[in-house]
Amino acid sequence: MARVVKRAFKYRFYPTGEQAAQLLRTFGCIRLVYNMALQARTEAWTRRQERINYNATSALLTGWKRTDDLAFLNEVSCVPLQQALRHLQNAYINFWARRAKHPTFKSRKRSRHSAEYTASAFRWRDGTLTLAKMAEPLDIVWSRPLPDGASPSTVTVSCDRAGRWFVSLLCDDVITQTPATGMVGIDAGLDSLLTLSTGEKITNPRHERADRQRLARAQRGLARKQKGSANRTKARVKVARIHARIADRRRDHLHQLTTRLVRETQAIVIEDLAVANMVKNHRLARAISDAAWRQFRTMLEYKAAWYGRDLIVVDRWFPSTRLCSACGALAQKMPLRVREWTCPCGAVHDRDVNAARNILAAGLAVTACGDDVRPQRGTSRTGQSSAKQETPRATKGIPVL
Ligand SMILES: [Zn+2]
Repeated sequence: MARVVKRAFKYRFYPTGEQAAQLLRTFGCIRLVYNMALQARTEAWTRRQERINYNATSALLTGWKRTDDLAFLNEVSCVPLQQALRHLQNAYINFWARRAKHPTFKSRKRSRHSAEYTASAFRWRDGTLTLAKMAEPLDIVWSRPLPDGASPSTVTVSCDRAGRWFVSLLCDDVITQTPATGMVGIDAGLDSLLTLSTGEKITNPRHERADRQRLARAQRGLARKQKGSANRTKARVKVARIHARIADRRRDHLHQLTTRLVRETQAIVIEDLAVANMVKNHRLARAISDAAWRQFRTMLEYKAAWYGRDLIVVDRWFPSTRLCSACGALAQKMPLRVREWTCPCGAVHDRDVNAARNILAAGLAVTACGDDVRPQRGTSRTGQSSAKQETPRATKGIPVL
């Protein structure tokens, strides 16, 4: 069976000086328009209890462009500005649905620099991409091919903190769905990235340990530099580069892993770590592995939908590490350093494998009850609403321990 899905293909590109200037100006205008619209919406609500929608902010934008002070907004393509207003609208929808916090102002230093172009604002001819208000096409490094005959419907240009430029092309792609069987439980760990109920342990990407040490050193270096100095700027770019390298390797690693998992298995059971990780831990390793887990889950969600697989999310209110997966007895409190333990029933457990088996058992209990455990579809862009909706359904039917 084949299925057509929307898929983003991301590439690096090298802008000319003129293009970079145009894009940086666009980012600045997007930030300004977004912040002014947010301000208008907030004021309308606090002063008059009035909700301003996308159309109203769009009309405001037309007005701003006519004033002398803001005439420079006409120098950039209007489409990314409109898209920013749409993003603000979505942020409000998520806020009203209690899926997200109230939108905040974009900042020049902290916010992501990106601009979204819809079909009317770019030209796609023979594999070259030219954006509105630009004379030349972008110099894209085609690190992998687009699907045959693909033509992008949306294009997003971004620049990361390490100063690298990216373009992401949203295209239709055909996924061939092949049947698979079996069910696997997955536990997230610190020592090994993930542990499967089959006993397989998935380690962190290569070089990550060394990269983390380098990152810690660079961060210490940055902390010593005087605020506002040129050396501090240099140190900040260095930190950003190492961060970017860790994140890139991580993402590649997780892509390979999640693709393999959804191809091989019909049902995948994971735990809802938002519940387990209530304990704050500011260590670098922890922060990175938490981010990796969120990314892993998002990838699993959309790839499971692509391939027609089931993703079952179980609440971790049961003690998955201390529970014997062979006899169901509950062991005493177990500090993190205990990697292996023996149950009175005679079973010898690897801590993480045992946890993964318990997660699998929880998933099996859900399916045995005949619940429809398929996650909600069509929310892969945020991944938030599906996460919120499937959890209570998936936990239904887990026996009380
Ligand atoms: Zn036992």
